[in-house]
Amino acid sequence: MKALCWMGSGKVEVHTVSDPTLLNPHDAIIKITRTAICGSDLHLFDGFIPTMEEGDILGHEFMGIVEEVGKEVNNLQRGDRVVVPFTIACGKCEFCRKKIWSACDNTNPNAHLMEAVYGYSGSGLFGYSHMMGAMPEAKRSMFACLLQM
Ligand SMILES: [Zn+2]
Ligand SMILES: [Zn+2]
Repeated sequence: MKALCWMGSGKVEVHTVSDPTLLNPHDAIIKITRTAICGSDLHLFDGFIPTMEEGDILGHEFMGIVEEVGKEVNNLQRGDRVVVPFTIACGKCEFCRKKIWSACDNTNPNAHLMEAVYGYSGSGLFGYSHMMGAMPEAKRSMFACLLQM
C-alpha cells in the first residue's frame, strides 16, 4: 500500500510499505479512504517531536472501511464505515472505564519513553512518534471494538 512517510525534519515522501496484518485478536484492518494533515502533524514535520524515525508512516486521524477484524472484535464487520481519532484505547483499564481515553494505561508499548519526556504516559497515538506508540509497520487499528461510529 502507499503511505506518506516522515523522512526527516521538513521532509515527507509517499512510499510503498507493507500491507497491514492482524497482530492481535482485537485488531481491525481499515482501508483508509480519507485522512488529513492537522496542526499536530506540523510538529512532526518541523522536527519538534522526539523519537521519530525515517520512514515512519504519518496520518493519525482518518476514516475508512473495515476490511478485516480479529476474533475478539464483535461490533464491527467487513464493510462498516468508521472514523478513527488519534487516541488508541483498550476500553478496560481504569481510565477507559471513566471515559478518559487519552490516558489509557494499556495501549502505549513505549510508555517509558513518553514518561522520560513528559513525566507520565498517556495512551498510544496513531502515527505520532515512537514514544507515543507509533505503529512501525503499516497502519493498524488496535482495539477496534471502540472504533465504531
Ligand atoms: Zn491531529
Ligand atoms: Zn484503557
